[in-house]
Amino acid sequence: MDTIGHWIGGRRTDGAAARRGPVFDPARGVQAAEVAFASAAEVDGAVKVAVAAAAEWRDSPLSRRSAAMFRLRELVDARRDDLAAIITAEHGKVLDDARGEVARGLDCVEFACGIPHLLKGAHSSDVSAGIDVHTVLQPVGVVAGITPFNFPVMVPLWMLANALACGNAFVHKPSEKDPSASLFLAELVQEAGFPDGVHTVVQGDAEAVDALLMHPDVDAVSFVGSTAIARHVYETGAKHGKRVQALGGAKNHMVVLPDADLDAAADAAISAGYGSAGERCMAISVIVAVGAVADPLVEAIAARIPGIVVGPGADDGSMMGPLITREHRDRVQSYLGRAAGDGAVLVVDGSSADERDGFFVGCSLVDHVEPGMAVYDDEIFGPVLSIVRVPSFDDALALVNANPYGNGVALFTRDGGVARRFERDVEVGMVGINVPIPVPVAWHSFGGWKASLFGDAPIYGPEGVRFYTHPKVVTTRWPDPATSVIDLGFPTNR
Ligand code: NAD
Repeated sequence: MDTIGHWIGGRRTDGAAARRGPVFDPARGVQAAEVAFASAAEVDGAVKVAVAAAAEWRDSPLSRRSAAMFRLRELVDARRDDLAAIITAEHGKVLDDARGEVARGLDCVEFACGIPHLLKGAHSSDVSAGIDVHTVLQPVGVVAGITPFNFPVMVPLWMLANALACGNAFVHKPSEKDPSASLFLAELVQEAGFPDGVHTVVQGDAEAVDALLMHPDVDAVSFVGSTAIARHVYETGAKHGKRVQALGGAKNHMVVLPDADLDAAADAAISAGYGSAGERCMAISVIVAVGAVADPLVEAIAARIPGIVVGPGADDGSMMGPLITREHRDRVQSYLGRAAGDGAVLVVDGSSADERDGFFVGCSLVDHVEPGMAVYDDEIFGPVLSIVRVPSFDDALALVNANPYGNGVALFTRDGGVARRFERDVEVGMVGINVPIPVPVAWHSFGGWKASLFGDAPIYGPEGVRFYTHPKVVTTRWPDPATSVIDLGFPTNR
């Protein structure tokens, strides 16, 4: 069985760790490879290589960094299909969806190509007699990126493009569930001309993550994953003096008002609820049906479900692939039985027996869901759409704002005034008006509120550049002997 190893100092290495984990082909339900788990000592060795590389890379000219990023852009673009195939093989999502993931990651590489412009500081001349002030943005040093299974290419690119362009060394700890894409990306980064050691991959689990969080030479940590681990990463990293951004889980609502276009809303609910089998942090998992729209909306969504073809991600015609592991599939299915027991109504039960060996589950639609039921309270991360019925827009807004998560939300309506109020009053970081998955474009930044983001820094875009740099303000006076006097007073700007 193949072992998926690390990338340290510009080459692959299996490492010496005694522990390994299984990597599955979720479409067949069998183990396809194993992945090495780095020990704390191996993480320490990898970080030392990164520290040495960072010391040189921070001084590299902006033109060189930008040129390497342009080459990376060309390489990722040329290898889109290879990357998508790797994603589908280990994650299970359908190829089209995997290609979309690569495209959104590529957007972040393109943004980072403009790094000379992005790192321009500000300058104020003559702030006082003969005194000028300018700001510079310097790299933070060694940046760790810990990523989830559900976007094995896009989320690493959210991080590594800006981190490297800003002059840092990047140490990536991918998800142990689909680790192969990280090594393919590492090869592309090397081929693009980034020096060895500037980009490192250490595979592993909690031991590797904790070693990074406590390592004295790791300066900043970007994390994307579930809320419980995000909180742990934020608290542990901050305690060890690091700058940390930790993006967590989600429970995204889509509010549908009675004046909304019913077909458009039903299509959006299907796409955003069941795309990637619901394994997206921006997936819609709760439809909030306001007033009289509920019955026709439930009917329209239910009528569309039989048209969704569930099958292996690599097969033509598959619209929804399997879930990531058998345990996860069983966990997703367990919510359906619990929902029925809690008094919700299973309009469509996707857990019905699937003869195939892969980790497949069908689409489910659960009506009359209420807060307090597990199907509403928990992030299920599977193809399960809940319907919560509320009498008014105000009730819908209150429901969304009472939820502990605040990643994404959507409103479907034709009423601009209500939409404007929603946009201003909803306590969620990313808002879609008649747009069900409002993932910001690469030149804005991505980040939720509340339990969906620990730390103040959203990821990628301008906020990403800010996170991966230290600002420094330099106040300069070149002595003019003609004006030199002794003055013991406090310096003022007059
Ligand atoms: P996860 O939290 O299980 O794993 C994320 C990373 O943390 C992995 O690299 C994993 O190896 C590591 N990890 C796991 N357990 C750990 C522990 N005890 N200590 C230290 N590190 C540990 O998440 P996942 O299942 O891979 O991904 C799905 C989750 O990620 C969902 O909750 C989803 O909402 C979230 N997510 C959020 C965003 C976002 O932008 N907010 C994006 C994608 C995914």
